[in-house]
Amino acid sequence: MSFQCSNADFHVRSVHDNELFAVRRQALCSSEVFRDMFTCCGESEETLDLHETADSLAALLILLHHPPQPPTKIKRDKYNLIPKVWNDPKTVIPLPLLPRLFELADKYALPPDFVTEVLGEHLLAHASEEPLTVYVIAHSQELHRIASQASQFLQPMANYSLHEVKAIPIEAYHRFVQLQDTRVKAMRKYLLSEDIFPHGYGICASHSRETTQLWHSKRMSLAVKVETLTDVAGEMEIVVYQEPVQSCAVCRKACIAAVEMLRYKCRKIPRTVDKLNA
Ligand SMILES: [Zn+2]
Repeated sequence: MSFQCSNADFHVRSVHDNELFAVRRQALCSSEVFRDMFTCCGESEETLDLHETADSLAALLILLHHPPQPPTKIKRDKYNLIPKVWNDPKTVIPLPLLPRLFELADKYALPPDFVTEVLGEHLLAHASEEPLTVYVIAHSQELHRIASQASQFLQPMANYSLHEVKAIPIEAYHRFVQLQDTRVKAMRKYLLSEDIFPHGYGICASHSRETTQLWHSKRMSLAVKVETLTDVAGEMEIVVYQEPVQSCAVCRKACIAAVEMLRYKCRKIPRTVDKLNA
């Protein structure tokens, strides 16, 4: 990480690597720690020695001189269950850098809003790809909203290794298992009770039996495979592209309506631990 300051009036030194950085004094003042140092030491000192590596110091100076903006968000199609919002990857701080930035923000007392609203949003941007890592970092920073948001992207807990789940507190692990169990049971219930011609509504005179059977066999085979992240409506939508549904306007209409009803019901199932009843 490299840091440059064009209108410097002060220096800080990494004692660890004996590297000097030209900085702007005013920029350091968004850190409460630096503000306190300047208050008690006055303006006399021209160089401040810090027990940081040059790399860490550069990272801190970038945070102070050029505070990052939250990632740029792109709204997705409303039918895409998760994630609803996509972040432009070019604007997201890479996940491996974030733990150190949180550590520096904490150590140098950067404004709490910056930590939650900027660093937190960058962390959240990785939740769909790396939910467990994001959860663990968010939990350690007491960013409860982000920890909870990350829970919706977790794989079934059995998919993780012991080494991975060891990073989660036992209480949280239990909540995840409860959340996933609740989701699977609810999805299975909705799936098995959703008929393609509910109470004969929208029934097709030509294919009532064939289409009912097709729908039923698809939902039975799906029901045994449902996991916490399964898109039940999306899976059932495949029936729209199978015969006789595909070529029959009446069957197609009924199938689309059933898929939409399933999608609507599944959207109501809790996705995050904070939505789970205690
Ligand atoms: Zn038909």
